[in-house]
Amino acid sequence: MEKFVIFGNPVAHSKSPQMQNAGFDNLKYDAVYEKHQLIDGNSIKTTFLKNKYQGANITVPHKEHAFANADEVRGLAKKIQAVNTYINENGKVIAYNTDAPGFLKAIESFGKVKSVLLLGAGGTAKAIALALQESGIDVTVLNRSESKLEFFKNENITSYSWENFVAKEFDLVVNSTSAGLKDDYLPCDKELLEKVFKTAKFAFDCVYGKITPFLALAVHNGLEIKDGEDMLLYQGVLAFEYFTKQKVDENVVEAMRNGLKA
Ligand code: NDP
Repeated sequence: MEKFVIFGNPVAHSKSPQMQNAGFDNLKYDAVYEKHQLIDGNSIKTTFLKNKYQGANITVPHKEHAFANADEVRGLAKKIQAVNTYINENGKVIAYNTDAPGFLKAIESFGKVKSVLLLGAGGTAKAIALALQESGIDVTVLNRSESKLEFFKNENITSYSWENFVAKEFDLVVNSTSAGLKDDYLPCDKELLEKVFKTAKFAFDCVYGKITPFLALAVHNGLEIKDGEDMLLYQGVLAFEYFTKQKVDENVVEAMRNGLKA
C-alpha cells in the first residue's frame, strides 16, 4: 500500500486527508493519506523519504522550506518559490505548486476574466499573481504593507500599498489576505473596496466555508461571488493526479468534493 501525507504545523484542522482518501476509495487505489505535524521545516525532505511516503502535500508554514529542500522543482513553482506537492520519483524528491493552477480552475466558472485586482501579497498571492500573469490576464496587486511588494515588482506586476493605490476598472477582485479568516476585518478600506466593486463583476475569496465581510460587501454591491472551496478542491485534484500518475474524471472530482464536505 502506498503512503501519502500532508505536512503542516498545525495540521489537525486539515481536510486534505478526507478529500484525498475519498479519491483513492473511488479509484480503488491501494493507498492511504495521513497527517504529519512537522515542526522543523528544514527536515521536510528527510522526513518524507524516511517515512517512505510516495507523495505529500505541504501547507502553512512549510511551503518555502519544501521548495528549498526539493531535489527538483517543476513548472511555475520555480518562479513562485513555494511548493505544496512532493512526489517521490525513484528516490528523488520532485516538487510542484498546484495552488496556482487550482486557483485558475476555480475561477473558470466566472467565464471570461481579463483583469484582476489581487488583495494581499503573501505566499498565496504570489502563486495567484504568477498564474494569472502566465495566462495573459492583467493582474494588479494591492497590499497593506509596502515591504512585500518587491517580489511582484521584480516580476513586472503592477503593485501598490494602501498609501499609493490608483484605482481602475477590474473584472474580478480577489481576497488573498487572511482578513476574514478568523476575524471580521475587510482586506482593505471599505470606501476603496466599494469604489472598485462599482465597476467589477466578480469577487473571489481564498478563505473557504464562510461568507467573509469581503464577500458580503461584494454581494451587497451586486457582484457574483465565490469562496475558496473550489481552489482547495482543485489544488487537491491536481496533486492527486501527480500521486496516482493519471488524469481523473468528474466522478473522482465529485468524490473528492464530497470527501471535503464530509
Ligand atoms: P500569508 O501569511 O503569506 O499572507 C497574508 C497576507 O494577508 C499578507 O499580504 C498580509 O499583509 C495580509 N493581511 C493579513 N491580515 C490582514 C488584514 N487584517 N488586513 C489586510 N491585509 C491583511 O498568508 P497566505 O498567503 O498563506 O494565505 C492567505 C489566505 O489564503 C489565508 O486566509 C489562507 O487560509 C487562504 N488560502 C486558501 C487556500 C485555498 O485553497 N482556498 C490555499 C492557500 C491559502 P501584510 O503584508 O501587510 O502583513
